[in-house]
Amino acid sequence: MTDSPAPPPDRYWEYLGLDEMDEAQWEALCDGCGKCCLIRLEDEDTGEIHTTDVACKLLDIGSCRCSDYPGRKKHVPDCIKLTPAGVRRYGWLPRTCAYRLIDEGRPLFDWHPLISGDPDSVHRAGMSVQDKALPEGAVKPRFLPGRIRVWPGEGPAGTPLSEDD
Ligand code: SF4
Ligand code: SF4
Repeated sequence: MTDSPAPPPDRYWEYLGLDEMDEAQWEALCDGCGKCCLIRLEDEDTGEIHTTDVACKLLDIGSCRCSDYPGRKKHVPDCIKLTPAGVRRYGWLPRTCAYRLIDEGRPLFDWHPLISGDPDSVHRAGMSVQDKALPEGAVKPRFLPGRIRVWPGEGPAGTPLSEDD
């Protein structure tokens, strides 16, 4: 996830590529779903990435925001900073992730705050982890495989979005 979004001046995401956006435009593109902050497990045999319903220890599950975004690397050294190149590289990014949608030339969903004008619309649409994920400390690592789930808007790994999605 990224930091708190700033209000966008126009529908810039419809004509700017990810690598053409300034910092405020880039940050505002995050829908605040929190799904990128869930713990993922890789199948050692297939390399497939599975998403759990257990959130990173720094995720505020109520707001779906990082509780210490500027200092997160101190606590979660492997937290990644999303970049345009990373969006193309990280196949595990949620299919609904706004960065992924724009990179794939798809429109934002109606529930995206940039479309609705309401930062809570992502939660009301049931597309965020708000009140649905468990905190990392609540689940012992050996039980994580049992917490794998398919989140709304997602599908099995490698499933393409249909034109209707
Ligand atoms: S999955 Fe994408 S849109 Fe959702 S919080 Fe993460 S970076 Fe933002
Ligand atoms: S530290 Fe955790 S909660 Fe914060 S941005 Fe990284 S993955 Fe998300």
